[in-house]
Amino acid sequence: MRVIFSPDDFQSIYIKSLHSCSIGFIPTMGYLHEGHLSLIRQSRKENDITIASIYVNPLQFGPREDLQKYPRDLDRDKKLLQAEKVDFLFYPGDKDMYPEKLSTIVHVEERLAGKLCGQFRPGHFDGVATVVLKLFNIIKPNKAYLGLKDYQQYIIIKKMVNDFNLDVRIIGMPTVREKNGLAMSSRNSYLSTTEKQLAGSVYSGLLYIQEQLQNDMEINIKKLTADYINFLSRKSEFFKLQYLEIYDLGLKPIKKYKKNKTVIAAAVFFKNLRLIDNIII
Ligand code: AMP
Repeated sequence: MRVIFSPDDFQSIYIKSLHSCSIGFIPTMGYLHEGHLSLIRQSRKENDITIASIYVNPLQFGPREDLQKYPRDLDRDKKLLQAEKVDFLFYPGDKDMYPEKLSTIVHVEERLAGKLCGQFRPGHFDGVATVVLKLFNIIKPNKAYLGLKDYQQYIIIKKMVNDFNLDVRIIGMPTVREKNGLAMSSRNSYLSTTEKQLAGSVYSGLLYIQEQLQNDMEINIKKLTADYINFLSRKSEFFKLQYLEIYDLGLKPIKKYKKNKTVIAAAVFFKNLRLIDNIII
Protein backbone atom coordinates (compact mmCIF):
# COMPACT_ATOMS: atom_id res chain seq x y z
CA MET A 1 0.00 0.00 0.00
CA ARG A 2 1.33 3.43 -0.90
CA VAL A 3 0.61 6.40 1.31
CA ILE A 4 0.08 9.68 -0.56
CA PHE A 5 0.03 13.00 1.26
CA SER A 6 -0.66 15.66 -1.35
CA PRO A 7 -3.18 16.13 -4.15
CA ASP A 8 -0.31 16.87 -6.59
CA ASP A 9 1.45 13.58 -5.82
CA PHE A 10 -1.79 11.74 -6.30
CA GLN A 11 -2.38 13.51 -9.61
CA SER A 12 0.96 12.33 -11.06
CA ILE A 13 0.30 8.74 -9.96
CA TYR A 14 -3.17 8.98 -11.46
CA ILE A 15 -1.86 10.17 -14.81
CA LYS A 16 0.96 7.59 -14.89
CA SER A 17 -0.87 4.51 -13.81
CA LEU A 18 -4.48 4.86 -12.70
CA HIS A 19 -6.39 6.71 -15.41
CA SER A 20 -7.53 3.52 -17.14
CA CYS A 21 -8.43 1.64 -13.92
CA SER A 22 -11.77 1.54 -12.16
CA ILE A 23 -11.28 3.21 -8.80
CA GLY A 24 -13.26 2.54 -5.63
CA PHE A 25 -12.91 5.15 -2.91
CA ILE A 26 -13.64 5.06 0.83
CA PRO A 27 -13.38 8.45 2.56
CA THR A 28 -12.87 8.12 6.33
CA MET A 29 -11.67 10.03 9.37
CA GLY A 30 -9.56 7.06 10.49
CA TYR A 31 -9.45 5.05 13.70
CA LEU A 32 -10.80 2.28 11.53
CA HIS A 33 -13.20 -0.46 12.57
CA GLU A 34 -15.16 -3.25 10.92
CA GLY A 35 -17.67 -0.75 9.53
CA HIS A 36 -14.95 0.96 7.50
CA LEU A 37 -13.47 -2.39 6.52
CA SER A 38 -16.81 -3.61 5.14
CA LEU A 39 -16.79 -0.64 2.75
CA ILE A 40 -13.24 -1.47 1.70
CA ARG A 41 -14.07 -5.12 1.08
CA GLN A 42 -16.99 -4.17 -1.15
CA SER A 43 -14.79 -1.80 -3.11
CA ARG A 44 -12.14 -4.49 -3.57
CA LYS A 45 -14.80 -6.75 -5.08
CA GLU A 46 -16.05 -4.15 -7.53
CA ASN A 47 -12.97 -2.19 -8.68
CA ASP A 48 -9.43 -2.59 -10.03
CA ILE A 49 -8.01 -0.20 -7.47
CA THR A 50 -9.19 0.66 -3.95
CA ILE A 51 -8.22 3.92 -2.35
CA ALA A 52 -9.04 4.92 1.23
CA SER A 53 -8.55 8.36 2.69
CA ILE A 54 -8.03 9.37 6.29
CA TYR A 55 -8.64 13.01 7.00
CA VAL A 56 -10.19 14.60 10.07
CA ASN A 57 -11.74 17.58 8.36
CA PRO A 58 -11.76 20.71 10.56
CA LEU A 59 -14.41 22.32 8.33
CA GLN A 60 -17.10 19.93 9.58
CA PHE A 61 -16.46 20.29 13.32
CA GLY A 62 -18.24 22.91 15.40
CA PRO A 63 -16.32 25.05 17.91
CA ARG A 64 -17.43 22.92 20.88
CA GLU A 65 -16.97 19.56 19.17
CA ASP A 66 -14.20 16.97 19.50
CA LEU A 67 -11.83 17.94 16.63
CA GLN A 68 -8.77 17.98 18.91
CA LYS A 69 -9.51 14.77 20.75
CA TYR A 70 -10.94 12.78 17.83
CA PRO A 71 -9.22 9.35 18.07
CA ARG A 72 -6.21 8.96 15.79
CA ASP A 73 -3.78 6.06 15.29
CA LEU A 74 -2.14 6.02 11.89
CA ASP A 75 0.07 2.96 12.49
CA ARG A 76 -2.89 0.86 13.55
CA ASP A 77 -4.97 2.09 10.61
CA LYS A 78 -2.15 1.39 8.12
CA LYS A 79 -1.90 -2.21 9.33
CA LEU A 80 -5.64 -2.72 8.96
CA LEU A 81 -5.64 -1.20 5.47
CA GLN A 82 -2.65 -3.30 4.42
CA ALA A 83 -4.36 -6.46 5.67
CA GLU A 84 -7.34 -5.56 3.45
CA LYS A 85 -4.97 -5.03 0.48
CA VAL A 86 -5.93 -1.43 -0.04
CA ASP A 87 -3.82 -0.01 -2.91
CA PHE A 88 -3.46 3.60 -1.78
CA LEU A 89 -4.05 5.56 1.38
CA PHE A 90 -4.59 9.26 0.82
CA TYR A 91 -3.52 10.91 4.06
CA PRO A 92 -3.40 14.66 3.58
CA GLY A 93 -2.65 17.27 6.22
CA ASP A 94 -4.62 20.49 6.67
CA LYS A 95 -2.09 22.39 4.51
CA ASP A 96 -2.58 19.86 1.69
CA MET A 97 -6.37 20.14 1.80
CA TYR A 98 -6.65 23.85 2.57
CA PRO A 99 -3.40 25.57 1.48
CA GLU A 100 -5.31 28.82 1.68
CA LYS A 101 -8.68 29.84 3.06
CA LEU A 102 -11.45 28.69 0.72
CA SER A 103 -13.47 31.31 -1.12
CA THR A 104 -16.00 28.74 -2.25
CA ILE A 105 -17.86 26.20 -0.19
CA VAL A 106 -20.70 23.80 -0.89
CA HIS A 107 -23.86 24.87 0.90
CA VAL A 108 -26.44 22.20 1.66
CA GLU A 109 -29.92 23.65 1.73
CA GLU A 110 -32.15 23.59 4.81
CA ARG A 111 -34.52 20.95 3.42
CA LEU A 112 -31.77 18.36 3.78
CA ALA A 113 -29.40 19.89 6.34
CA GLY A 114 -31.93 21.50 8.70
CA LYS A 115 -33.16 18.25 10.26
CA LEU A 116 -31.69 15.24 12.09
CA CYS A 117 -28.03 15.91 12.99
CA GLY A 118 -27.84 19.03 10.82
CA GLN A 119 -30.20 21.07 13.03
CA PHE A 120 -27.84 20.57 15.99
CA ARG A 121 -24.58 20.91 14.04
CA PRO A 122 -24.86 24.14 12.04
CA GLY A 123 -22.49 24.16 9.07
CA HIS A 124 -21.52 20.52 9.59
CA PHE A 125 -22.91 19.27 6.29
CA ASP A 126 -21.49 22.22 4.35
CA GLY A 127 -18.10 21.12 5.70
CA VAL A 128 -18.76 17.49 4.81
CA ALA A 129 -20.01 18.24 1.30
CA THR A 130 -17.10 20.60 0.63
CA VAL A 131 -14.40 18.13 1.69
CA VAL A 132 -16.07 15.23 -0.12
CA LEU A 133 -16.28 17.28 -3.32
CA LYS A 134 -12.58 18.09 -2.99
CA LEU A 135 -11.73 14.44 -2.32
CA PHE A 136 -13.77 13.29 -5.32
CA ASN A 137 -11.96 15.80 -7.53
CA ILE A 138 -8.56 14.67 -6.24
CA ILE A 139 -9.14 10.89 -6.33
CA LYS A 140 -11.51 10.80 -9.34
CA PRO A 141 -13.21 7.57 -8.20
CA ASN A 142 -15.73 5.65 -10.28
CA LYS A 143 -17.50 4.51 -7.13
CA ALA A 144 -17.49 5.83 -3.57
CA TYR A 145 -18.60 3.70 -0.63
CA LEU A 146 -20.49 5.37 2.21
CA GLY A 147 -22.08 3.90 5.32
CA LEU A 148 -25.85 4.10 5.79
CA LYS A 149 -25.09 4.58 9.49
CA ASP A 150 -24.63 8.26 8.60
CA TYR A 151 -27.86 8.26 6.62
CA GLN A 152 -28.26 12.03 6.33
CA GLN A 153 -24.67 12.33 5.09
CA TYR A 154 -25.31 9.58 2.54
CA ILE A 155 -28.42 11.33 1.19
CA ILE A 156 -26.67 14.71 1.09
CA ILE A 157 -23.67 13.37 -0.81
CA LYS A 158 -25.89 11.52 -3.27
CA LYS A 159 -27.82 14.74 -3.88
CA MET A 160 -24.61 16.72 -4.36
CA VAL A 161 -23.39 14.18 -6.91
CA ASN A 162 -26.67 14.55 -8.75
CA ASP A 163 -26.84 18.35 -8.43
CA PHE A 164 -23.27 18.83 -9.72
CA ASN A 165 -23.27 16.04 -12.33
CA LEU A 166 -20.31 14.37 -10.65
CA ASP A 167 -19.14 11.26 -12.44
CA VAL A 168 -19.12 8.94 -9.43
CA ARG A 169 -21.56 6.29 -8.20
CA ILE A 170 -22.41 6.41 -4.53
CA ILE A 171 -22.80 3.01 -2.93
CA GLY A 172 -24.60 2.96 0.46
CA MET A 173 -23.44 0.13 2.70
CA PRO A 174 -25.33 -1.41 5.67
CA THR A 175 -24.40 -0.51 9.23
CA VAL A 176 -21.97 -2.89 10.89
CA ARG A 177 -22.82 -3.49 14.55
CA GLU A 178 -21.32 -4.96 17.68
CA LYS A 179 -22.93 -8.20 18.93
CA ASN A 180 -25.29 -6.19 21.16
CA GLY A 181 -26.42 -4.05 18.23
CA LEU A 182 -24.34 -0.95 18.97
CA ALA A 183 -23.44 0.65 15.61
CA MET A 184 -19.67 0.64 15.25
CA SER A 185 -18.09 4.07 15.38
CA SER A 186 -14.60 5.41 15.96
CA ARG A 187 -16.03 7.46 18.82
CA ASN A 188 -17.09 4.26 20.65
CA SER A 189 -13.44 4.12 21.75
CA TYR A 190 -14.44 6.80 24.29
CA LEU A 191 -16.62 4.13 26.02
CA SER A 192 -15.65 1.44 28.54
CA THR A 193 -16.75 -2.17 27.97
CA THR A 194 -19.66 -1.80 30.38
CA GLU A 195 -20.71 1.47 28.76
CA LYS A 196 -20.62 -0.20 25.33
CA GLN A 197 -22.97 -2.89 26.64
CA LEU A 198 -25.45 -0.24 27.78
CA ALA A 199 -25.05 1.79 24.59
CA GLY A 200 -26.50 -1.13 22.62
CA SER A 201 -29.90 0.09 23.88
CA VAL A 202 -29.84 2.92 21.34
CA TYR A 203 -30.33 0.22 18.70
CA SER A 204 -32.64 -2.11 20.65
CA GLY A 205 -34.75 0.98 21.40
CA LEU A 206 -35.06 1.66 17.67
CA LEU A 207 -36.24 -1.92 17.14
CA TYR A 208 -38.81 -1.35 19.87
CA ILE A 209 -40.01 1.81 18.11
CA GLN A 210 -40.17 -0.14 14.87
CA GLU A 211 -42.63 -2.56 16.53
CA GLN A 212 -44.78 0.30 17.83
CA LEU A 213 -44.79 1.93 14.41
CA GLN A 214 -45.69 -1.26 12.60
CA ASN A 215 -48.61 -1.77 15.00
CA ASP A 216 -49.92 1.80 14.83
CA MET A 217 -49.02 2.60 11.18
CA GLU A 218 -49.66 6.32 11.90
CA ILE A 219 -46.49 8.24 12.73
CA ASN A 220 -47.33 9.87 16.04
CA ILE A 221 -43.88 11.28 16.68
CA LYS A 222 -44.68 12.67 20.12
CA LYS A 223 -45.85 9.27 21.37
CA LEU A 224 -42.97 7.39 19.74
CA THR A 225 -40.44 9.85 21.17
CA ALA A 226 -41.92 9.34 24.65
CA ASP A 227 -41.78 5.55 24.12
CA TYR A 228 -38.12 5.75 23.08
CA ILE A 229 -37.19 7.98 26.03
CA ASN A 230 -38.95 5.55 28.40
CA PHE A 231 -37.19 2.59 26.84
CA LEU A 232 -33.78 4.24 27.22
CA SER A 233 -34.41 5.49 30.75
CA ARG A 234 -35.26 1.93 31.84
CA LYS A 235 -31.77 0.88 30.67
CA SER A 236 -29.71 3.74 32.11
CA GLU A 237 -30.15 7.14 33.70
CA PHE A 238 -27.27 8.42 31.55
CA PHE A 239 -29.19 8.48 28.25
CA LYS A 240 -30.51 11.80 27.00
CA LEU A 241 -32.38 11.87 23.70
CA GLN A 242 -31.39 14.59 21.24
CA TYR A 243 -33.86 13.61 18.52
CA LEU A 244 -35.98 10.79 17.19
CA GLU A 245 -37.21 11.48 13.65
CA ILE A 246 -38.96 9.44 10.98
CA TYR A 247 -38.85 10.11 7.23
CA ASP A 248 -39.15 8.43 3.90
CA LEU A 249 -35.88 7.32 2.32
CA GLY A 250 -35.34 10.72 0.69
CA LEU A 251 -35.73 12.37 4.12
CA LYS A 252 -39.13 13.82 3.25
CA PRO A 253 -41.73 13.92 6.04
CA ILE A 254 -44.34 11.14 6.00
CA LYS A 255 -47.50 10.61 8.03
CA LYS A 256 -47.77 6.81 7.74
CA TYR A 257 -45.36 3.92 7.91
CA LYS A 258 -44.47 2.60 4.45
CA LYS A 259 -42.83 -0.82 4.36
CA ASN A 260 -39.12 -0.72 3.39
CA LYS A 261 -39.45 3.01 2.66
CA THR A 262 -39.20 4.40 6.15
CA VAL A 263 -36.14 5.46 8.11
CA ILE A 264 -36.18 5.90 11.90
CA ALA A 265 -33.15 7.88 13.04
CA ALA A 266 -32.00 8.95 16.48
CA ALA A 267 -29.22 10.80 18.24
CA VAL A 268 -28.73 10.03 21.90
CA PHE A 269 -26.27 11.38 24.41
CA PHE A 270 -24.81 8.68 26.61
CA LYS A 271 -23.03 10.70 29.29
CA ASN A 272 -20.98 13.09 27.10
CA LEU A 273 -20.86 10.92 24.01
CA ARG A 274 -23.32 11.53 21.22
CA LEU A 275 -24.40 8.30 19.50
CA ILE A 276 -26.33 8.22 16.23
CA ASP A 277 -28.14 5.31 14.67
CA ASN A 278 -30.96 4.54 12.28
CA ILE A 279 -32.93 1.66 10.86
CA ILE A 280 -34.63 1.35 7.52
CA ILE A 281 -37.86 -0.59 7.90
P1 AMP B 1 -16.04 8.14 9.49
O1 AMP B 1 -14.61 7.68 9.58
O2 AMP B 1 -16.79 7.98 10.77
O3 AMP B 1 -16.17 9.49 8.84
O4 AMP B 1 -16.74 7.12 8.51
C1 AMP B 1 -16.27 6.88 7.21
C2 AMP B 1 -17.29 6.10 6.43
O5 AMP B 1 -17.54 4.86 7.11
C3 AMP B 1 -18.63 6.83 6.34
O6 AMP B 1 -19.19 6.60 5.05
C4 AMP B 1 -19.45 6.15 7.41
O7 AMP B 1 -20.84 6.20 7.19
C5 AMP B 1 -18.93 4.73 7.32
N1 AMP B 1 -19.20 4.01 8.58
C6 AMP B 1 -18.94 4.46 9.85
N2 AMP B 1 -19.37 3.57 10.76
C7 AMP B 1 -19.94 2.55 10.05
C8 AMP B 1 -20.58 1.33 10.43
N3 AMP B 1 -20.73 0.98 11.70
N4 AMP B 1 -21.04 0.52 9.44
C9 AMP B 1 -20.90 0.87 8.14
N5 AMP B 1 -20.30 2.01 7.73
C10 AMP B 1 -19.83 2.84 8.66
